[in-house]
Amino acid sequence: MAARGWGEEGVGPGTAVPIRHVGDPVLHRPCRPVTEFDDELAGLVQDMFASMYAAEGVGLAANQIGVDRRVFVYDCPDATEEWRKGVVVNPTLVLPGPAERALAEYEEGCLSVPDQRAELARPDRAVVHGSDVTGAPVTVEGTGLLARCLQHETDHLDGRLYIDLLPAERREEVLRAYERERDRPAEPD
Ligand SMILES: [Zn+2]
Repeated sequence: MAARGWGEEGVGPGTAVPIRHVGDPVLHRPCRPVTEFDDELAGLVQDMFASMYAAEGVGLAANQIGVDRRVFVYDCPDATEEWRKGVVVNPTLVLPGPAERALAEYEEGCLSVPDQRAELARPDRAVVHGSDVTGAPVTVEGTGLLARCLQHETDHLDGRLYIDLLPAERREEVLRAYERERDRPAEPD
């Protein structure tokens, strides 16, 4: 997920990889579950953190760097403005039931749809169950922007972008604006 106002910059051992953009097939189909908790997975997670920080994002899913695996990373503030950082492998999202559910409106953005934002209502709390890189169980409870991030990144791993949740007309507007920006000739230095 794209940041609106960036906090501290993280530095890690991974390699930043170019982010895939809307239209790339790897973003539009569900990712495969992780079955091996090995060095390759640990390296992937390091590259994901490096790529997220390079792109100034607050969350990144593996398929956004072209890897078809159910993993996301985040470094994102919650409702108390506390920055929370972590990785979730094979996440399962749990949202509050309709009776307890409160929706929050926010101008959401995505590193895979650069330079665009759109108002999107989502539940203001979310819980994700999954594993860490060693396979140990983790549970992440999110409020505020982190609640949105957990939903946004799990959606990625299910092959869904935030624009897919917008009304069809608004989705088209955002896509057209993205394409105009992408196809604009580079300005001379
Ligand atoms: Zn995204």
